[in-house]
Amino acid sequence: MSKERLVVIGGDAAGMSAASQARRRRPELDIVVFERGPHTSFSACGIPYYVGRLVDAEEKLIMRTPEKFRELDGIDVRILHEVEEIDTAGRKVRVGVRDLKSGKSSWEPYDQLLIATGAVPLCPDLPGAHAVDIFGVSTLESGLEIRRRLDKGGINKVVIVGGGYIGLEMAEALVMNGLEVSLIDRAAQVMETLDEDMGALVSQALRDAGVTLYLDEALTSFVTTSGKVTGVVTGKRTLPADIVILGLGVRPNTVLAATAGIPLGEKGAIRVNERMETGIPGIWAAGDCAESFHLVSRKPFYVALGTVANRHGRVAGINLGGGNATFPGVVGTAITKICQMEVARTGLQEKELRKLGIEWVSAVIKSRTKAGYYPGAGEITVKVLAEKGSGRLLGGQIVGMEGSAKRIDTLATALHAGFTVEEMINLDLGYAPPFSPVWDPVVIAAREVAKKL
Ligand SMILES: Cc1cc2nc3c(=O)[nH]c(=O)nc-3n(C[C@H](O)[C@H](O)[C@H](O)COP(=O)(O)OP(=O)(O)OC[C@H]3O[C@@H](n4cnc5c(N)ncnc54)[C@H](O)[C@@H]3O)c2cc1C
Repeated sequence: MSKERLVVIGGDAAGMSAASQARRRRPELDIVVFERGPHTSFSACGIPYYVGRLVDAEEKLIMRTPEKFRELDGIDVRILHEVEEIDTAGRKVRVGVRDLKSGKSSWEPYDQLLIATGAVPLCPDLPGAHAVDIFGVSTLESGLEIRRRLDKGGINKVVIVGGGYIGLEMAEALVMNGLEVSLIDRAAQVMETLDEDMGALVSQALRDAGVTLYLDEALTSFVTTSGKVTGVVTGKRTLPADIVILGLGVRPNTVLAATAGIPLGEKGAIRVNERMETGIPGIWAAGDCAESFHLVSRKPFYVALGTVANRHGRVAGINLGGGNATFPGVVGTAITKICQMEVARTGLQEKELRKLGIEWVSAVIKSRTKAGYYPGAGEITVKVLAEKGSGRLLGGQIVGMEGSAKRIDTLATALHAGFTVEEMINLDLGYAPPFSPVWDPVVIAAREVAKKL
C-alpha cells in the first residue's frame, strides 16, 4: 500500500509550519510542498530592513532552505513549481514547472491538501500602473528587486503610495538611506488601523523623520516615459518619482481555491473551521489566504500577518499529523515602528465599534516609558477603549518612544481573557525605574477609562 500523501501549496510561514508539524507527528507521511518562487521560509517582515541596509545579506532573511527541509525533515520541497489547478473530486493538483518555460505541467495526487498561498499586494487599476520602477512589496524577490534597483543608483526621489505599516516601514528604510521620500494616502491620517487621533501622532512622526506627507489625496495615475515611471499624479498635484513603492494593502491569494469551488468568506479569504479545515473534505487552509475569527467582535475577520500565519500553520500541521488542535481566533494585534516612534494596536477601533453598534468610552493618556527621572524616559501615548456600562475591554492603541509598542501585549492578553478595564487596574505587572513608571501606562489608561463608565 502506498504511503498517505500530504500536498502543501506555498512554502512560506503557514505552509512550512504546517509541513514541519505534520512531519514531527507522522514520520511515515509523504509530504510534498509546491512553491512557485525560488525560496522557502523567508521573512517578508525583514524586507524593509534589508532594503534599508540594516540587514546586510539576503540569506539572513531565509530561515530554512528547500535543501535543509529535504535533508533534515524529509520534506520534498519543489521550488519554482506552481499549482495551477485543484481537482477536488479527483484529489489531485495540476503543477507547472516555472523555470522550464515549456508550459509543461503534470497532475500530482494528494490524500490531504493544505492551501497556504498567502496574499498578493493590491495594485491600482490606473494608467501607468505596470510601468518599470513601480514596486509592490510581498515576496523576498520583490524586496531583493527593490534593493538591486537602489544599488544600481540614480535614485533620489521616492513616492510611497499608501500609509499602512508596509508603506511606513519602507518610508523609514528609504529616508534613513538619504532619499527624498514622499508618501501619499487618501485618508486624513496614516495607519488606518488606528483611530484618527492616534494616527495623527504617527503622521507627525513621519514628518519629523523627514518624510513629506500628502494626506487626503487619492492617487489618480502614474506619469511614465518610455515605459518607466517618472511621477505620480494625485487629485491635487504631480509628484516627480524615480521609483514608486505601493503599500496599498493586500488581498488573499485565493483565485486557485475559488476556481476549485472552495468556499470563501466576505473578504475573499478561504473559510475555515477551528481546525483549519475548509468546506471541502481533505482540504485545509492556513495563513494570509485563510480567514480568522475575531474574538472581540465575534465575527469572521481577515488579517494578513506572520504571527497569525505561523499559528494557523501550526494548528493545521498538528491536525494533519493526527493530533487535535484548534485556533480560537485573533484580537487584531499588530506593531510597527517609524524611526524613533513605535506604534501598536489591538482589538477594535472606533470605526469598527460604530459599524458593530457597540457603545464605548475611551481615554487617551500620556506617560513615560520609564520612571520620569530615569535617563532615556520617552513619551508614550496610550488609548484604551471599553464597552460603555460593562467596562469590557474592547481595544487599545499605543504610539511612543522605544519601549512602547510591546506594551500592547498586556492589552492583547487582557482581550483574550475577556477582562474589564477594572480588572486590568490590579494586574500584577512588573515595575522598576529602567522599565516603567510605578503605574504602567496601559494601566493608567485603563484606570482613566474605568472612571468614565
Ligand atoms: C514588507 C512586509 C513586512 C511585513 N512585516 C510583518 C511584521 O512585522 N509582522 C507580521 O506579523 N507580519 C508581517 N508581514 C506579513 C507576513 O510576512 C505574512 O503575513 C506572512 O508571510 C504570511 O505567510 P503565508 O505563508 O500565509 O503567506 P506568504 O508568506 O505570502 O507565502 C505564500 C507562498 O505561497 C506561494 N504560492 C502562492 N501561490 C502559489 C501557487 N499557486 N503554487 C505554488 N506556490 C504558490 C508564494 O510564492 C509564497 O511563497 C509583512 C509582510 C511584508 C510584505
